[in-house]
Amino acid sequence: MMQQIINEAEEVLLHTYNRYQVVFDHGDGVHLYDIEGKEYLDFVSGIGVFALGYGNKAYNDAVKSQVDKILHTSNYYYNVPAIEAAKAIKKASGMDRVFFTNSGAEAVEGAIKTARKYAYLKDGSTDHEIIAMNHSFHGRTFGALSVTGTPKYREAFEPMIGNIRFADYNDLDSVKNQITGKTIAIIMETIQGEGGIHPADKDFLKGVRDLCDEHDLLLILDEIQCGMGRSGYMYAWQGYGVKPDIMTTAKALGCGVPVGAFLMTEEVGANSLKAGDHGTTYGGNPLAGAAICEVFRQYEEQNITEHVQQVGAYLFEKLEEIKQENGHIIDHRGMGLMQGLEFDTEVAPVINAALDKGLVLINAGTKIIRFLPPLVITQNDVDFMIEILKEALKSL
Ligand SMILES: *Cc1c(COP(=O)(O)O)cnc(C)c1O
Repeated sequence: MMQQIINEAEEVLLHTYNRYQVVFDHGDGVHLYDIEGKEYLDFVSGIGVFALGYGNKAYNDAVKSQVDKILHTSNYYYNVPAIEAAKAIKKASGMDRVFFTNSGAEAVEGAIKTARKYAYLKDGSTDHEIIAMNHSFHGRTFGALSVTGTPKYREAFEPMIGNIRFADYNDLDSVKNQITGKTIAIIMETIQGEGGIHPADKDFLKGVRDLCDEHDLLLILDEIQCGMGRSGYMYAWQGYGVKPDIMTTAKALGCGVPVGAFLMTEEVGANSLKAGDHGTTYGGNPLAGAAICEVFRQYEEQNITEHVQQVGAYLFEKLEEIKQENGHIIDHRGMGLMQGLEFDTEVAPVINAALDKGLVLINAGTKIIRFLPPLVITQNDVDFMIEILKEALKSL
């Protein structure tokens, strides 16, 4: 049955993903079930989206009741769920102004437009430069792709938007070297995700913030993957004692309803995008707003960040043990429930063996296994994952 559906999929879907040979049907808590009824422990959460677990009744009810009320009105009118959602995200982040999008990439587009407009209003010129990081990932649309530091994602689609300079992550001198009289902003992930789970060093992020202050640049932090509690802080930068001027968020923000946002300080908001400068048909519609409100309500109720710090520390300890035991593992990095094991060899056989044994894992690049479980995972789930991982590692 599963193979037939996979064959049908390969006849109709554009082949932009090498998908795993499984068709998921439903979920319950931290478990997924395929259409043949097999159970899997989920350590991916749909790439860091389903933070609150599957089949979450209060979340489902909140979304359903909004469906019955109204799904969409357009941004020419006010709607209460979006206003409440903006208040919640403002409270959690300390940022001041919110623009809702439908995806992460769109949030990055908005952040770049905000920075350019801010600079344009200051000096009227249109040849400003932005510094981005090597091995970064910010999404697949042209602006987001232009600041994505993996040349193979960009090459066939050149030309990108211009005036982007790349620096090395966690190398402050490299960033300094890219600053010119035209630089207006630095964009980076607080913890690089797709690039292989690299948290920013404390000194580096503080140093970048200082450089921004010194040279009057905007600091744009992409919190699309590492935000929403995943690092053990609501937004990862809150663990560093720095604050961005512009921030992007998405993935777990809606826990399944597609939504993102870019946020900024009052100062940037007052001096950048104005009526008519930016827009979206769907962004911040009542459905997305209702989902976001329920996500924040449950985060608070469950004290999610504290839970992530505890279980994340336990996961770190257990993965350290695995690292000690396995000669193929050359590094272990991460924060909270965003961790990675780097191998000296390709990890696809391990991921496939794990899937076969009922554990969903994902790579970041070809040699890194990424651990992005639902944030509600428990120590028992970690223990169970470790048992299967040990078995799967025998496939190396
Ligand atoms: C996933 C991701 C994006 C892109 O988000 P989409 O919703 O896929 O457009 C951007 N930045 C980071 C850090 C991401 O992890």
